[in-house]
Amino acid sequence: SEKGVLIKSAEVLEKISKIETFITDKTGTLTFGKPKISKFVKFGSITEKQFLTYLGAAEINSNHPVAKPVVEYIKKKGIKIPSSEKPRESPGEGVEITLKGKKIAVGKIIYIKNLGAKFETFMEKEIESFSKQGFSLTAISLNKKPIGLIVFEDNLRPSAKSIVNLTKSLGAKKWIMLTGDGPVVAKKIAKDAGIDNFEANLTPREKLKFIEKFKKENPNLQIAMIGDGVNDAAALAIAD
Ligand code: ADP
Ligand code: MG
Repeated sequence: SEKGVLIKSAEVLEKISKIETFITDKTGTLTFGKPKISKFVKFGSITEKQFLTYLGAAEINSNHPVAKPVVEYIKKKGIKIPSSEKPRESPGEGVEITLKGKKIAVGKIIYIKNLGAKFETFMEKEIESFSKQGFSLTAISLNKKPIGLIVFEDNLRPSAKSIVNLTKSLGAKKWIMLTGDGPVVAKKIAKDAGIDNFEANLTPREKLKFIEKFKKENPNLQIAMIGDGVNDAAALAIAD
């Protein structure tokens, strides 16, 4: 996995030239999985200190790769991260906490929306503009109101495209990328890696479902699932 490709068993390695379809995860597999934060965007009149305090209180409970640099940044600013109650992480989606009676959630836009938050037009415009520039986004809500965004980038591994090309030259017909990220970023990363097919906005469970369905519909195809084991362990486990 040093090269970013975790192959489930030696057996798979032997089979590699027989594999017709590769299904791959994005974050940590095609990309480094080490997000670089470009900026924090605050909505409304909340102070930076308050905003970062809420954000830190939530992210300290998360295993998502972006949580670590976020927490580090906040600590470096000298902001004390309060401990919260009832952290609930939905892997690949976000985390929700209760802090002194306030509900704070951090995660992907759809996750925050599904928790009942409404994004105003100006917020949607910011989201669209950052996505179009290729940034990944995470939203933060306070009592179901969006209070800001984390704008970050996770770069494609330079080796990704050559691995895709190598498998194609060995006979692979199809690569499919699955990601929890939004469609705009997904499209860009897939294209840069030389992958024609992708599915965006998937939860880890939906990734698993996709693979199960794909295998059922293509019972005779040799399929390989590639991932870093983060949020996709279940999907990896059922792959060939
Ligand atoms: P992938 O499916 O490509 O591996 P992930 O499932 O890791 O991607 O993440 C998809 C999106 O989920 C990210 O772009 C990010 O916005 C969001 N996300 C999920 N959990 C968190 C969290 N705890 N903190 C911040 N962002 C999160
Ligand atoms: Mg992942």
